[in-house]
Amino acid sequence: MKLTKLIMLVLLLVFCCGFEFNSYQLSKWSKAVRARDNNNCFMCDRVFDGPGELEAHHIMPKSKYPTICYEMWNGITLCDPCHLIPHKSKLNHKKYAPMFLAYTLTFEGPLP
Ligand SMILES: [Zn+2]
Repeated sequence: MKLTKLIMLVLLLVFCCGFEFNSYQLSKWSKAVRARDNNNCFMCDRVFDGPGELEAHHIMPKSKYPTICYEMWNGITLCDPCHLIPHKSKLNHKKYAPMFLAYTLTFEGPLP
């Protein structure tokens, strides 16, 4: 009985999250952000060719602000190690946001 409830809960969570964040839309957004930034990490300035080394970082967390998670100005390109820095703590996330926004808001990008 307990296991059934747990499975139902997991299914419900997967179902709800799938509705909130469209993985196809997210990957399209991520690709557009990385292309805008010329596959260049904003923090360490390294350029990458291979996939999987660069990520699009949500400046305003998508869990907190789901309605703006596909906005171009809300994304910035970071490499794997640098992406850990703003995610180290909530304080770090807030600390880096103005610097990231000062850069992304200079672009007039269309929605992906
Ligand atoms: Zn980097």
